[in-house]
Amino acid sequence: MSRVCPLTSSKRYACTGTRLVDSYLYTSALFKAAESRGTVLRLAQAVGLKTSGGRVTAVRLTDEELACEHVIIASGPWAGESESWLGIPIPVEPLKGEILRMALPGPAPVCEMESGDVSLGQRADGLIWVGATEERCGFDMQPSDAARDKLLAAAIRLMPAMSAARIVQHTACLRPATSDRLPIIGKAPGWDNVYLATGGRKKGILLAAGMGQAMADLIAANGRTNLSIDPFAPGRFATRSAEEASR
Ligand SMILES: Cc1cc2nc3c(=O)[nH]c(=O)nc-3n(C[C@H](O)[C@H](O)[C@H](O)COP(=O)(O)OP(=O)(O)OC[C@H]3O[C@@H](n4cnc5c(N)ncnc54)[C@H](O)[C@@H]3O)c2cc1C
Repeated sequence: MSRVCPLTSSKRYACTGTRLVDSYLYTSALFKAAESRGTVLRLAQAVGLKTSGGRVTAVRLTDEELACEHVIIASGPWAGESESWLGIPIPVEPLKGEILRMALPGPAPVCEMESGDVSLGQRADGLIWVGATEERCGFDMQPSDAARDKLLAAAIRLMPAMSAARIVQHTACLRPATSDRLPIIGKAPGWDNVYLATGGRKKGILLAAGMGQAMADLIAANGRTNLSIDPFAPGRFATRSAEEASR
């Protein structure tokens, strides 16, 4: 490794041919593409569902109702809020992650570097991104000094030149994490027109295209898709709850 990138401190670390997607640009591009095909984007908070039998007929917003034919619950770390709307278990919880963006005065690393506790590499903004922590602490999204110090120390161990780098930005975000670490993709049990697409955890951006394709297939082809999504069925939690209750 030190032959590939002289900045690193050790030969022990792996270097792979990583390709990077800018998640902000990716999401914006998807919205633009959807709008160009007639999608209307509304930014509003959903506070509940209006139902009739096994169907959802409208999504309740804070000040109005939106009539619907199908509903996809894709509210990330907040997906668990929909448990009470649908009466099914949706065991998603927030997994906090913090990242430092740093300016390095000298030459940047020529590749992505990763040790067991930190990864770093240069991004399109020219900065070295150092990430990421993992912490279960509810919906707290405040960057913390403890996480900053932990990331810095690990970055310097991996690449000593980072001791001269300046922190430009320190962010904290939440990942949607399920109790079995697998995503939740599929039809909500007991409902005719409700689907779940969440629980991407640390790979939600990578999984987004597949999850979106699965949703489109299920809705357009009346519950069928060629993608292998059975292990991610939302009903698996209801089955487990029933099994646990009968023990
Ligand atoms: C530090 C860090 C690094 C990461 N690195 C990677 C990586 O390298 N590769 C990768 O693939 N993934 C990565 N991830 C994970 C990835 O960011 C997530 O898995 C992904 O963003 C989840 O997407 P989502 O759409 O399910 O949830 P979110 O992106 O959280 O979106 C959910 C949306 O639903 C909205 N919402 C919630 N409740 C309501 C409501 N009641 N009404 C209306 N809107 C609502 C929220 O406001 C939010 O906009 C990383 C995450 C973190 C924190």
